[in-house]
Amino acid sequence: MSKCKYCNSTGHGACAYSPHKFHELQEDEKRCVFCGSSGYGNCAYGPAKKHKHGSGANKCRWCGATGNGRGCPYNPDRVHEK
Ligand SMILES: [Zn+2]
Ligand SMILES: [Zn+2]
Ligand SMILES: [Zn+2]
Repeated sequence: MSKCKYCNSTGHGACAYSPHKFHELQEDEKRCVFCGSSGYGNCAYGPAKKHKHGSGANKCRWCGATGNGRGCPYNPDRVHEK
């Protein structure tokens, strides 16, 4: 079971210790760090309400694309992030 890197909770949602107010679990690249879902796109939690997967694979944490640079549909900054 993954734990929040700010408070060690295993829950999802509001976190009193996180700078962006949501638990951020130490998930791998297969799951969203905010909610544990394996999907991409709209997320119930997270500062941007978009799933963000953990790092580990050579692909974008927000959309799963293998490209680099601008054009990410989900990262609020619009850049693919690995
Ligand atoms: Zn937390
Ligand atoms: Zn999510
Ligand atoms: Zn992306």
